[in-house]
Amino acid sequence: MSTQLDDTAVTTWHTLDGAEAVERLESDARRGLDPDDAARRLDEHGPNVLREAERTPGWVTLLSQFQSPLIYILMLAGLLTIVLGEYIDSGVIAAVLALNASIGFIQERRAEDSVRALMQLISPTANVVRGGRTRSIDSTELVPGDIVLLESGVRVPADLRLLSTSSLRVDESLLTGESVPVDKSLSPVDEKAALADRTGMVFSATVVASGRGRGLVVTTATDTELGRIAEEIRSTEALESPLQVRMRSFSHIIGAVIAGSAAVTFALGLVIGEDVGEMLLVSAALAVAAIPEGLPVVLTVALALGVRRMARRNAIVRRLAAVETLGSTNLIGSDKTGTLTENRMTVSQIWVDGDLHDTDELDLPEPHEAEPIDPESLDSDPLTLSLLAGVLANEAHLELSEDGHEAEGDPTEVAFLVNAARHGIDPTAIRESWTSVAELPFESEHRYAASFRERDGERWVFAKGAPERILAMCDRRAVADGAETTLDADAIQAEADAMAARGLRVLATAGAPWTDELDPSDPSEPTGLEFLGLVGLLDPPRAGVIEAIHGCRQAGQRIIMITGDHAATALAIAHDVGIVDDPDAPAITGAELDEISDDDLPEVVERVNVFARVSPQHKLRIVLCAKENGNVVAVTGDGVNDAPALKNADIGIAMGKAGTDVAREASDIVLADDNFVSIHAAVEEGRVTFDNVRKVTFFLVSTGFGTFIIIPIGMLLGWPLILVPAQLLWANLVTKGLQDLALAFEPGEPDVLDHPPRARKEPILNRLLWWRSLLVGAVMGAGTLWLFHWAWFDQEMSIEQAQAVALSALVVFQAFHLGSSRSERRSIFRIPLLSNRFLLFAQ
Ligand code: ADP
Ligand code: MG
Repeated sequence: MSTQLDDTAVTTWHTLDGAEAVERLESDARRGLDPDDAARRLDEHGPNVLREAERTPGWVTLLSQFQSPLIYILMLAGLLTIVLGEYIDSGVIAAVLALNASIGFIQERRAEDSVRALMQLISPTANVVRGGRTRSIDSTELVPGDIVLLESGVRVPADLRLLSTSSLRVDESLLTGESVPVDKSLSPVDEKAALADRTGMVFSATVVASGRGRGLVVTTATDTELGRIAEEIRSTEALESPLQVRMRSFSHIIGAVIAGSAAVTFALGLVIGEDVGEMLLVSAALAVAAIPEGLPVVLTVALALGVRRMARRNAIVRRLAAVETLGSTNLIGSDKTGTLTENRMTVSQIWVDGDLHDTDELDLPEPHEAEPIDPESLDSDPLTLSLLAGVLANEAHLELSEDGHEAEGDPTEVAFLVNAARHGIDPTAIRESWTSVAELPFESEHRYAASFRERDGERWVFAKGAPERILAMCDRRAVADGAETTLDADAIQAEADAMAARGLRVLATAGAPWTDELDPSDPSEPTGLEFLGLVGLLDPPRAGVIEAIHGCRQAGQRIIMITGDHAATALAIAHDVGIVDDPDAPAITGAELDEISDDDLPEVVERVNVFARVSPQHKLRIVLCAKENGNVVAVTGDGVNDAPALKNADIGIAMGKAGTDVAREASDIVLADDNFVSIHAAVEEGRVTFDNVRKVTFFLVSTGFGTFIIIPIGMLLGWPLILVPAQLLWANLVTKGLQDLALAFEPGEPDVLDHPPRARKEPILNRLLWWRSLLVGAVMGAGTLWLFHWAWFDQEMSIEQAQAVALSALVVFQAFHLGSSRSERRSIFRIPLLSNRFLLFAQ
């Protein structure tokens, strides 16, 4: 039977209750669609994508290549040659124009394409239930009837009818303009209810602010509210970076100077008595030869190449400007878990009933081999209860099978499940026998998770979380034999600190029969719990992180760790990966930060490298202060609440895998592999890109100057014309057609990371490079003049021959200079000739 819906039905999903909606779409609230059925529906409904933003038509891009004062001059010159009947010159000019336009066209297209392709890479995924299993799929594959799981930070992938919620609040500002997140519930509403009042629905592209939910996909793609209201939600990011803007004005100034000088040359020619037509041509050709009209194009290419190279190294650039800013970044604020460490947690120590157990030494079986414990026969010793709490106050999933286990969810939570399984507890069986009444899922700012459960009329609440949070909820401690003792919170905290100092992430577990009234949709924080145990999780540093941090520090960048984890754990890891060297280095906690006044903060931020137990608000404060101090700050983040810090940093870096869509959309760069090593790589590429832009500029300015001075000087010396217009244009074609572009492909010098970051305001050509440009230009000009002199006066060649000698000289000088422009610091003879094949070919 068809699931196609008529138009009237589409608008009224909010009037149905969940079960009715599920029935209408022939789905299954628990098991979801069968994968086969989903595939069939995908064929029928098409992918869940909005119509793509209009792409600039080709002819517009092509025409825009001619929209430059520099090109106008060239076209003027072309007209002149036709008027004067110098058809060879006209041909050369036409070739220059065509080449320029096609290179610009192709490159602009490439840049546009690659930026767009990269943006698609980060299109969000959705967690769906299909065939009874939870899986993460590309949200373009969603179809009506799919069951989608929502949690805080997720961008809703389609229009959904909610089937269950737990403290679910959704930010719908995108659709309704209402900036306060709205509470969702399950009740159907009147047909005429406004969008904002349809509480049983969530809409595509809105964002889950907190809580969890489960919903049925009712419409996808352009059938969604979003698709109706706006054909296009994502405004295409501006392709122009500040460097491009600066470069454009830079080349305009140069253009004006050259046009002025060309006019002066023209006047000079008339005074000396040259032919008017000839002089017109010469000055026009001169202007064309000297003007660096290729600069903006080359810059775009260099940036686009930078984007590509970064993507290859797992850093996906969302804002082009980030490429250049990265080159001057001097402070990187990094998360710990997942970015510096693997985020592959394993329980390595458990402390219960006054004893510390090394789980590595317990010689535990692999999860699938463990003898299952019958949940009915659980005796209530503290260890078992602690394992139970870890399983029940937990949202992850673990499937055990012969060939290992498959896990879904937060690695911290998965570690608890695996640990329980290795002790012979089957998480799925436990969860079935203890039915859930209400949940307080883990949120960073609460630092704990709790679950209210019921079994055979017995009602219990279980919690796990940061030890100080859990301890505050407890008033007694569990010991064997079901006896109870008073709680010595200080002693337990000391134990937790000792575990943390060994680099473990320490969580505590607690539980108790629950007696108070409970509102299942809005449970309050549990109190009066019994303390069960401490669990120490090991999360090893990622491979390559130590080297990358060393490299960043070598390159003049300071790394600070900003983490929600415990200070001692943070410090231990910071030492391991080389963020701090001093054994007594301090860590500042969020609570301590609150005590520090705005006046004292700058000094603290400059001195301290480890910030622990911080909330996203603290992170924002650190970022703002570091910027205030004059740093160029890059910061990483993954949660919804990280978005302000990501936006406010000079470079916001979001996690591609663990990150939320909100974080990704607030970011400039997305790390495809969540790995700090990729930040290091991106910094390197950022520097290479800027260096290449600088090299091209240097090359073009110096050759332009060198070419330019030949003619007026020759005239002043009373010599015949050293180069005819066609030759000038030909030299220009050679220089700017390929050579400058080729420089943009330079692979980067081996020592780009050995010097401190460039100052943010440092101009493209600094004073030194300006002088060098003029000097090199002068040498080139003088050399060409000298060779012409030699050919014309000493060898008494014909004028044509002498001009040919001058042209060859100029071109050889340029080629040689191109080679030497490849490095600011190294000599031409030290650079491997084959390291840039593109450049070799261009010559
Ligand atoms: P980070 O991942 O940088 O350590 P988080 O904000 O994710 O920071 O976590 C803050 C603290 O909350 C952790 O140090 C831990 O004590 C606690 N915590 C983390 N994950 C969970 C979880 N799934 N359940 C309960 N508590 C958690
Ligand atoms: Mg975390």
